[in-house]
Amino acid sequence: DTITISYPATEVVGHGSFGVVFTTQVRETGDRVAIKKVLQDRRFKNRELEVMKQLQHPQVVDLKYYFYETDPQGEVYLNLILEFMPQSLYQRLRHFVSQRSNMPRIEIKLYMYQLAKCLNYLHKHAAVCHRDIKPQNLLVDPETYALKLCDFGSAKQLKPSEPNVSYICSRYYRAPELIFGATNYTVQIDIWSSGCVMAELILGQPMFPGESGIDQLVEIIKILGTPTKQEICSMNPNYMEHKFPQIRPIPLAKVFKREDQETIQLLSDVLRYNPTERFTALQCLCSPYFDELRSTTDPELASVVS
Ligand code: ADP
Repeated sequence: DTITISYPATEVVGHGSFGVVFTTQVRETGDRVAIKKVLQDRRFKNRELEVMKQLQHPQVVDLKYYFYETDPQGEVYLNLILEFMPQSLYQRLRHFVSQRSNMPRIEIKLYMYQLAKCLNYLHKHAAVCHRDIKPQNLLVDPETYALKLCDFGSAKQLKPSEPNVSYICSRYYRAPELIFGATNYTVQIDIWSSGCVMAELILGQPMFPGESGIDQLVEIIKILGTPTKQEICSMNPNYMEHKFPQIRPIPLAKVFKREDQETIQLLSDVLRYNPTERFTALQCLCSPYFDELRSTTDPELASVVS
């Protein structure tokens, strides 16, 4: 189907790794939209577009339309017209940090619940792994507390028999199996990343701020302790070197001194070395940490959870 839309001059809202994101208002509908423009060779399919076409969920940024455009130099661009969201979770967190305050616990819980619902949908119903979960790719509306995942530029349907590249996901949020170079990883890498996001919202700064690829593992080991041989094997069975300094884990209750038992329990169920022991998105949703949302009588909170 083709439709005609017109829009006035656009305003840049974000610079991604592959292009620019603009915002504008569609004249015909009045809808505010974001336009993600990426260079695209027409001989190849754009995976981001193919994945987004298959997805429909309240916690996934909606792809409204798309079109190709050729510039005067003959370069072809793909334009993805997306539902607009006012800010990213990264910007929302910076707002609190700059005021020397914390994000309210209930707000963190609302965002984490929606992220778990989103990942349960992606992993179970669409069999898609996002592979770049981070605060910059989680878009929020602080008025309604709605959260939506964006940037499916790294997303892929993982098939158990096919190896996948391990050089994906942004450093602070990379699951340890990726650092160990695994190519047989699963959707559980997204769960690790979401645990890092939850920890960051509580701490106001990244939990594992690695300065380089391998330093990322050092940061993880400093808190979770040295992985055991079995744990290393569960992450990458082909990993040969097993010589690591023996570091003892720091209990998460010490890292998150002011958090309650439910919060600590969920973090420890999600930040596990062994990907098969790490909670799935569905297990996260069932966590007592979210009971407060399920039992709420506040209509504003209930509308986010329903
Ligand atoms: P890239 O794949 O090039 O990194 P992203 O899809 O991550 O691009 O978009 C880059 C930035 O643009 C995001 O971090 C966000 O700040 C902004 N952005 C992306 N999509 C939207 C949207 N639908 N609404 C509002 N801002 C958006």
